[in-house]
Amino acid sequence: MGVAIRADLATVPDYNIPGTAPDAVLLNSNEGPLPPPPAVVEAITRAAVEGHRYPQWFSDTLVGRLAAELAVPGERIAVGCGSVSLCRDLVQAFCGPGDEVLCAWRSFDAYPVFAQVAGVRARTVPLDAGHRHDLEAMLAAVTPATRVVFVCNPNNPTGTAVRGRELRAFLDRLPDRILVVLDEAYREFVDDPDVPDGIELARDRPNVAVLRTFSKAYGLAGVRIGYCVAAPAVVSAVHKVSVPFAVSRLAQAAALAALDRPEEVRSRAAAIVRERGRLQALLTRHGHPVTPSQANFVWLPLGEEAAGFADFCARHGVLVRPFPGDGVRVTVGLPEENDAFLSAADHYRAGTD
Ligand code: PMP
Repeated sequence: MGVAIRADLATVPDYNIPGTAPDAVLLNSNEGPLPPPPAVVEAITRAAVEGHRYPQWFSDTLVGRLAAELAVPGERIAVGCGSVSLCRDLVQAFCGPGDEVLCAWRSFDAYPVFAQVAGVRARTVPLDAGHRHDLEAMLAAVTPATRVVFVCNPNNPTGTAVRGRELRAFLDRLPDRILVVLDEAYREFVDDPDVPDGIELARDRPNVAVLRTFSKAYGLAGVRIGYCVAAPAVVSAVHKVSVPFAVSRLAQAAALAALDRPEEVRSRAAAIVRERGRLQALLTRHGHPVTPSQANFVWLPLGEEAAGFADFCARHGVLVRPFPGDGVRVTVGLPEENDAFLSAADHYRAGTD
């Protein structure tokens, strides 16, 4: 007789752990392609000197700094060990057995997993034919049990974004007892002026929570830090359910140092956006299907070819992320990395090895 593991965990899908290989070009995890700037590394090293002391529980210094940057009161900001931990905290804080979480599909795979782990039903609404959120269909899928709605903007893995007018209309029609989580992990790569800034939308909507992260544009995926902007009551609820001291001293110091370098972050994000444009144009010109993206990755809706395409790229030294039966997500990297991917993709299309 072994230990009694919760029986329902058997149906929770294993989280897809991205592959890695020595010398491979890593375009499978939507990370930034460059290491953190030296000043950020130095800040992490300095923080390590006091590694025998616990960090600030609620990251007060960083909260104060973010409050000033974003022009929102500090009581509206919660910091987490990556924004993914805040997704989980929000589900935990707002849902119990019998409740429902609503999200688009495909979208970030953590949403339904966190729901299931919390004993909550995840209702998923297919993206529309353009791989975009179908907000009408999502409204129609709301039930009296719906507690949390995730809107990933831009959407992982398709890169599509919801525009301001449709999002405001959606929020206006949704019952305000429901928490809407606008997951803006990729916000810094948006160049369509019609895509709204969630933090502005959240200012006068107490049922909207916005997630941002230092993992993508700030290049700190390995450091694990993100934040949530929401009403003070939502922030307090997150604090109640979060793991104590989950955000390390090193992570808090890194985020503060990164915020000291806005120009560097902006120019790195701008370089990715330029590369995204080049990659999309070349893919289209070479006959590959590609969905217009507002994020640091592109989506190739390859359907049943997805897994084979990703395997082919891996054999050519480029790791991309397949969603079998659906498509392939390719992170935008440095120009030479993107060229390596393009070359693999062209060989695949030409049927040559
Ligand atoms: N939200 C979305 C939409 C994501 O794609 C990711 C990372 N893949 C996250 C949140 C989590 O990012 P992190 O925990 O690194 O902040």
